Amino acid sequence: MSGNPFETSLKTLHEAAALGHINSEVIRLLEQPQRQFEFTIPVRMDDGRLEIFTAYRVHYCDALGQIKNGVRVVPDMDMDTAKALGFWMTIKHAVGGIPAGGGKGGIKADPSKMSRREYEALIRELPMKGAWVDVPGADIGTHGRTQAWMLDELEEIQGFHSPAAINDKPVEANGTELSREATGTGCYFVTREITKAMGMEKGARVAVQGYGNVGRVATELLYKDGYKIVAISDIFGGIANPDGIDVVALGEYVDKTHSVKGFPGCTEISTSEVLEAECDILIPAAVQSVLHEGNAARVQAKLIMECANGPTTPEAEQILYAKGVTIMPDVLTNCGSAIVCSFERTQGLTDQYWDKETVQAKLEERIVKSFHETYDTAKELNVSYRDAAWI
Ligand code: NAD
Repeated sequence: MSGNPFETSLKTLHEAAALGHINSEVIRLLEQPQRQFEFTIPVRMDDGRLEIFTAYRVHYCDALGQIKNGVRVVPDMDMDTAKALGFWMTIKHAVGGIPAGGGKGGIKADPSKMSRREYEALIRELPMKGAWVDVPGADIGTHGRTQAWMLDELEEIQGFHSPAAINDKPVEANGTELSREATGTGCYFVTREITKAMGMEKGARVAVQGYGNVGRVATELLYKDGYKIVAISDIFGGIANPDGIDVVALGEYVDKTHSVKGFPGCTEISTSEVLEAECDILIPAAVQSVLHEGNAARVQAKLIMECANGPTTPEAEQILYAKGVTIMPDVLTNCGSAIVCSFERTQGLTDQYWDKETVQAKLEERIVKSFHETYDTAKELNVSYRDAAWI
């Protein structure tokens, strides 16, 4: 997002609150985090030095349930980032109908410069508070293995099994099916519902920026359902074909080359040209602020599905609305992983583990309901889908 992401989110909060006539005391409570922790973690490095790392955890709001969400380990981690992301998660959980409060945290460190032993020692020192207080998940720099270390450490300290206390664990360590595919799958369900509501024909043309975890899963599901994928880009470049890209063959190509660039039978386009491609639906699934004042007027899509967090700057949003473009906001479009993480905790608490079809069916039910709540609010109050979701 342009400017400070926390300030931008506050602006959206106030705008939505005014349009939805939300109680001003609720808004006052949401203007700042409930609890913020800053602490240090000493780690004995392989060369004998003592390194002291700074870590953060924000419990933004636990009105809806225990705090839940990611631990980010990056060299520029700070409290403002944890605060902004914790706020976002609070709203996302509410939009997704999840009984959880929003939180975020992280460590200021560069995992690529640490040995496995050093990194494991660092991760195991994070304070873990259990399934009913604060459930950490994965984010940048953390993954199935770090989550399994956290669980192992907590269970060792507590002396009992506690799978619901940590999210994004590997399936073998009582994690959930569909964890990796949750966000792309959720985006697919929301796209299907909004295109139906807008009366778009099957075979609508789709352009996708970002072909990683989220973008690829969403694209493959849309392709399977009959949408025509006409342009895709990743950080290395892009491809376009107005007759439609063979997404199955592309998958095999990307597995080998790790990029969409150079896929045969397509025109080469740049990473950002994809945003201006001739299409009906645009899916930004890479990074924030890619739709801005400088390119919004050239966007040809009628519908934007925000898979990345904050891909549209407030200035771009005004330009797009003036052109009649529909935007499905990030807090709804990409809340699939937040929903499936909540299912992971539920499975851990009951000690019953669901197969992939069950997780997918429950995700579909949950996110389609959230879509309809947002849709109905937007129609009833005559507001944008972003404002409706926040309301
Ligand atoms: P990823 O790292 O797996 O994939 C990112 C993709 O974007 C890659 O194809 C990469 O090449 C491309 N990319 C990176 N920088 C780019 C740039 N400047 N221009 C064009 N392409 C670029 O990440 P992901 O997990 O797929 O997440 C994508 C976005 O979705 C992120 O904004 C993330 O915050 C958001 N998101 C992810 C999840 C999740 O569950 N993974 C949940 C909610 C939101």
